[in-house]
Amino acid sequence: MTSFYDELEIEDFEFDEETQTYHYPCPCGDRFQITVAELIDGEEIARCPSCSLMVRVIYDPDDFQDDDGETTIDLTKQRVITV
Ligand SMILES: [Zn+2]
Repeated sequence: MTSFYDELEIEDFEFDEETQTYHYPCPCGDRFQITVAELIDGEEIARCPSCSLMVRVIYDPDDFQDDDGETTIDLTKQRVITV
């Protein structure tokens, strides 16, 4: 069994628009990261590149559906992207 450092809501992550990546501070000083593409893929594990820790990301897959051929990120509580 894989053990996780923590479980975190996607809302708790910081979003970097340039890299389309969500970040969360890791206790080692680096940051856990997971990309939007991974979330769309159904990935729910954010990893820290500097240590072996992982966190499970809690999110609603519907927020990352890609059914109109265009990636729409709509985390309404936190961020609205205007087109
Ligand atoms: Zn780390």
